Amino acid sequence: MSTNRLAELIRKRQPCVVLTGAGVSTESGIPDFRSPAGIWAKVDPMEYASLRAFRADPERVWSFYSKRIEMLTAAEPNAAHHALAELERRGFVDAVVTQNIDLLHTRAGSREVVEVHGSIRTVSCPVCGRREPLRESLLPLPRCPECDAVLKPDVVFFGELLPPEAIDRAYGLARRAALMLVVGSALEVFPVSDLPLETLRAGGSLAIVNLGPTALDDRAALKIEAPAGDTFRDIVALIT
Ligand SMILES: [Zn+2]
Repeated sequence: MSTNRLAELIRKRQPCVVLTGAGVSTESGIPDFRSPAGIWAKVDPMEYASLRAFRADPERVWSFYSKRIEMLTAAEPNAAHHALAELERRGFVDAVVTQNIDLLHTRAGSREVVEVHGSIRTVSCPVCGRREPLRESLLPLPRCPECDAVLKPDVVFFGELLPPEAIDRAYGLARRAALMLVVGSALEVFPVSDLPLETLRAGGSLAIVNLGPTALDDRAALKIEAPAGDTFRDIVALIT
């Protein structure tokens, strides 16, 4: 039983740091990006989610993001989010590093969450730097109350660097993890894809729960090919 083995790994190899991608949220009804039914199969990310597109035509970018934010806000955390929060409460998970901007880990009760691609929690002014909470009343085209520039969602766009504090913290967590547990990520996007390698370089182990192959399957001590919700519901029941 691979879930038994994963529960065993989590129990024995502490501290455990979790790295999540879009696959952890698909069971909440949020489409991923790169699968054939994913978001980028329908819209070109360079036209709707790049820094260049935002500078050239912010209204077009916001027309995409306002719908996306509405959908993410309406979504609910699923069994995997709840289970990871429970594992943290029980002391088996140190932190969750996530590529997701949907806030579902925090809403499920996870406390140590590192959002390496930003989140839909806030918007910022690209001109004067003012930051404020994202409110639906700001949509469809939010403007800075100080300087009237169009505000940008605090999510990492194509062509943008990752927030340095978040990525530094993620590398620190990866380095000291005895177990890096990847959930719902194909590990295709750098530098997030380098975090499990940082754990391996520092002598830790890697476990992966993902539907479909990942770039590091051959480096993992354990790979479980299953939906995250079922898998982690079982893990919570098995681990004490
Ligand atoms: Zn401003």
